[in-house]
Amino acid sequence: MKPGLPFLLPAFLLLASFPFLPSPAPAATPAPGFVVTVLGARGGMLDGNLSAYMIRPTGDDRAILCDAGTVTAGLVAADRAGALDDVAVPPGTGLTRPGYVLAHTIRAYLLSHAHLDHVAGLVIASPDDGPKPIYALPATLHDLSAHLFNWRIWPNFGDAGPPPTLGKYHYRPLVPGRADPVPDTAMTVTAWPLSHGGIDSTAFLLAANGAAILYLGDTGPDAVEGGHRLDDLWRAVGPQLAAHRLKAIIIEASYDDTRPDRLLFGHMTPAWVADTLRDLARRAGGPDTLRGLTVLIGHVKASLATGPAPQEAIRRDLLRDAARDGLQDVRFVIAEQGQRLTVGAGPTAATEAVPPAGPTGRPR
Ligand SMILES: [Zn+2]
Ligand SMILES: [Zn+2]
Repeated sequence: MKPGLPFLLPAFLLLASFPFLPSPAPAATPAPGFVVTVLGARGGMLDGNLSAYMIRPTGDDRAILCDAGTVTAGLVAADRAGALDDVAVPPGTGLTRPGYVLAHTIRAYLLSHAHLDHVAGLVIASPDDGPKPIYALPATLHDLSAHLFNWRIWPNFGDAGPPPTLGKYHYRPLVPGRADPVPDTAMTVTAWPLSHGGIDSTAFLLAANGAAILYLGDTGPDAVEGGHRLDDLWRAVGPQLAAHRLKAIIIEASYDDTRPDRLLFGHMTPAWVADTLRDLARRAGGPDTLRGLTVLIGHVKASLATGPAPQEAIRRDLLRDAARDGLQDVRFVIAEQGQRLTVGAGPTAATEAVPPAGPTGRPR
């Protein structure tokens, strides 16, 4: 970082750089919002740290998991970091805290697409998992039942596909744009298709208690993918942002801004994230609508090369792109495994985070 720059740093970078803020005292009745626990944050290489975000309404233990690239290792890492301490584990279950959260706290999976970095943790954990529904667009459910839970790659824990079906997982197809309640949780989910380098991926809007959070699976920019899936999404959720109901967006930035568009392969860079957030603001009624929005950046491609970690380049690019595009009021956070964030739970609620632990958490 150049000398003299720090006085220019907007608040979001300070938050992103110093996430060990003291947690606010819990309110007696939490304001509408969500708790996000990052079980897996990266978009490649680290098989113990791939996309998986546990989301639950504030004050409510009934969670869903958005994507499931890393599940068990993510729960163990989150537990070690103290990020599951707020989950009440009843005595006598015979389960560790990660085991209880896997079998009972997570009530459903929402899968954006069936690429391995989004489903491998679910497959590996399946023998010890509890029964639950898997929500996805029909093409993703077909990929699971035809190509993963098919008795060849893995036993068929689903309720469709090659017999006999073990029926632990219930496939629940979503209809784009239609809100469906997620049973046994306080949340509804609405899906929209995304374009991801030749296959469909999915965005999920979760709503509870008058608040909403949007998770985007892998996606490329409209201008590179040759379509308008992101614009369609922003048109649909723009009113939620304008009404201050949308509290956070989880979106990918796989590569830094040096990556040429022809090598994006259905992914985003910080510059494209900033660009599409401006499109969202336009659909929501102007740049002011982004004020206070938390944007959690995931799916950064990990690297085994020497030199600075890729997320540091992403952080640097986001700072520059956000300043250029007038997005200083957005609270950007780079996702780290074992992190817990509270979003939208009242105007005084700071971003709460727990340091990552274990071999996949880099020291800061
Ligand atoms: Zn991916
Ligand atoms: Zn993918």
